[in-house]
Amino acid sequence: MELEKVHVVLFPYLSKGHMIPMLQLARLLLSHSYAGDISVTVFTTPLNRPFVAHSLSGTKATIVDVPFPNNVPEIPYGVECTDKLPALSSLFVPFTRATKSMQSDFERELMSLPRVSFMVSDGFLWWTLESARKLGFPRLVFLSMNCASTSILDSLLSKVKSETEPVSVPEFPWIKVRKCDFVKDMFSPKPSTDPGFKLILDQVTSMSQSQGIIFNTFDDLEPVFIDFYKRKRELKPWTLGPLCDVYNFLEDEVEEKVKSSWMKWLDEKRDKGCIVPNVAFGSQAEISREQLEEIALGLEDSKVNFLWVVKGKEIGNGFEERVGERGLMVRDEWVDQRKILEHESVRGFLCHCGWNSLMESICFKVPILAFPLAAEQHLNAILVVEELRVAERVVATREGVVRREEIAQKVKELMEGERAKELRRNVESYGKMAKKALE
Ligand code: UDP
Ligand code: UDP
Repeated sequence: MELEKVHVVLFPYLSKGHMIPMLQLARLLLSHSYAGDISVTVFTTPLNRPFVAHSLSGTKATIVDVPFPNNVPEIPYGVECTDKLPALSSLFVPFTRATKSMQSDFERELMSLPRVSFMVSDGFLWWTLESARKLGFPRLVFLSMNCASTSILDSLLSKVKSETEPVSVPEFPWIKVRKCDFVKDMFSPKPSTDPGFKLILDQVTSMSQSQGIIFNTFDDLEPVFIDFYKRKRELKPWTLGPLCDVYNFLEDEVEEKVKSSWMKWLDEKRDKGCIVPNVAFGSQAEISREQLEEIALGLEDSKVNFLWVVKGKEIGNGFEERVGERGLMVRDEWVDQRKILEHESVRGFLCHCGWNSLMESICFKVPILAFPLAAEQHLNAILVVEELRVAERVVATREGVVRREEIAQKVKELMEGERAKELRRNVESYGKMAKKALE
């Protein structure tokens, strides 16, 4: 009997943090294909194509690129991915809005493809629902968030008023949040004319009219929140995580012959271990000079080994000479973070609380020091610190800066002592569940 062929179209948002888990989803779908009964077409733009192709190498996925508009006044020419945006926090809205200009090319390409069974497109690409409707197939939304943050947002949008006074989340009264835990666009004083608020509204509306929603999470990780979502929403949540590529990726890399210098450095740190900070140097993080220096000084004072991928930025003031062998600064635009976290010398992750990074840390059983900066990262921090208890968290001063003393102390706590043992026990148990979920 001939099997019915399934053709899935995937359209990730134009940022690395959204592409990485969705491309893993593409791999997973294809790994379930027997004799070509599942085919996958991934949409992107010309400048993102090399990254997509590299991530899907060795698979039979088809990649189609459609041009990104090059006439948006705010967006520098040649920028098609958020990590290349000079000021993400102010350009996110015009950049995302501009993706709608891709709609007609997208639909033309869709019409030339074999019959599409369904589409999975990023929640940020709200307009793709219209395309799916026109062409007559279902659309599932991909959210690169977890269920906890989404549920808290859902439950609280209009209720948090004060910057500093914590408010309980009605459905989860043990969780307290403040206004500063959310992105600014949600509290626009003039929502009807605010482009950021309007964009969120379009995305939420399009999501609620779609046929389902995919979370990069797994049931054992946040059962309370997943259950809330199932009860409250008409949209069925699919929990398909962890989409970290962790296990596939490990197999891929075995044949790597030449060890990089940072890998050798990590090998030498097996005794004492090291911490990996990913905050402050990501192009996402628009962090103050002052905060950057406090982090460096905190790492210096902690006396703990650290490996820091710096993407071209400098700290100066003799920092590197002072820390010597204890700290390795890797100057590279892109080092696969998973390769680093996987190394047995890595015993702690000073993390900006991007959801992919947190999932990766859990999959590799690395305890976390939460240093949330933007987006829904403060809510993610609540999940890993208070609910899962796999993370410690830094506390900022009233001026919003985390001081070197605080950083040094928390880094030490993460690496040794009773607290470190407790965090490690917890992260190991979630890491096992992650592996089980993936299998
Ligand atoms: N990133 C990087 N080099 C690249 C692309 C991305 O260092 O060539 C980092 C970036 O700094 C950020 C992360 O990858 O820390 C993900 O960025 P993305 O643009 O995906 O952000 P998102 O919109 O998903 O938050
Ligand atoms: N990443 C990486 N190398 C880098 C910077 C980032 O491999 O130099 C990856 C990281 O492993 C994760 C993604 O980029 O998969 C970032 O996603 P996350 O949700 O953690 O952060 P954000 O998108 O908010 O920057």
